[in-house]
Amino acid sequence: MIELKQITKIYGNKKKRTTALSGLNLKVEKGEIFGVIGHSGAGKSTLIRCINLLERPSEGEVWVGGIELTGLGKRELQQQRRKIGMIFQHFNLLSSATVYDNVAFPLTLIGTPKNQIRKKVDELLSLVGLEDHRSKYPAQLSGGQKQRVGIARALASDPDVLLCDEATSALDPQTTDSILKLLLDINRRFGLTILLITHEMHVIQSICDRVAVIHEGGIVEEGPVTEVFLKP
Ligand code: ADP
Ligand code: ADP
Repeated sequence: MIELKQITKIYGNKKKRTTALSGLNLKVEKGEIFGVIGHSGAGKSTLIRCINLLERPSEGEVWVGGIELTGLGKRELQQQRRKIGMIFQHFNLLSSATVYDNVAFPLTLIGTPKNQIRKKVDELLSLVGLEDHRSKYPAQLSGGQKQRVGIARALASDPDVLLCDEATSALDPQTTDSILKLLLDINRRFGLTILLITHEMHVIQSICDRVAVIHEGGIVEEGPVTEVFLKP
């Protein structure tokens, strides 16, 4: 479902260059929950941002759902990006919009008819357990509730892939577990492919099928979670 081929990302200019990713290869199968773990500065957030081309790789190919995103024009890329939802560490909600409008936003943007938006948003709010909070603003919500809004918004365009950028790092352990449980539930129910990055082993061990360890811009170890972390 996701394939990164020989991805290199270099930041900076002639004066100061940082190689964040260096010839990185990664393959995530349809329907799995794949975790990438590594220390700060290892290249995790660059990696995840390269998948929907929020960050353009300097070299290499990004494939999602059998399509090479790195070969697309602007318009086609916009179209393909709808198949890729994303959630963030700090939620990235619109603070002056209600829960309902935050979730509706991606659909409003593409001109979806109002009755369809309403039906979809109602479904999503019930999926994430926020049906009683639709008229609240983000500031009136707990961290876990904000991330639930983030998840509902990410699912609004029926993506095939969900990218999670340190999605539980700002949450306490109990809330983290409830969000992970929700992600697992969504994965199992809809077959949604999930790629997450984290620096927390607990996150990997509780929901991931496979894991890759990233170090200095490259994958140094990869496999089923039980194998990678039970080696002597
Ligand atoms: P992680 O998410 O694992 O902490 P990052 O992908 O954020 O790692 O960073 C990888 C490397 O790239 C680090 O050395 C970081 O300083 C550098 N880097 C990340 N973003 C930028 C940027 N916008 N400009 C310059 N260097 C960056
Ligand atoms: P308008 O043409 O004024 O945008 P809408 O039917 O979109 O009319 O509704 C106006 C506002 O009411 C929306 O921006 C949204 O905040 C809220 N709203 C609409 N439908 C719902 C709903 N099912 N649940 C909660 N709030 C809703």
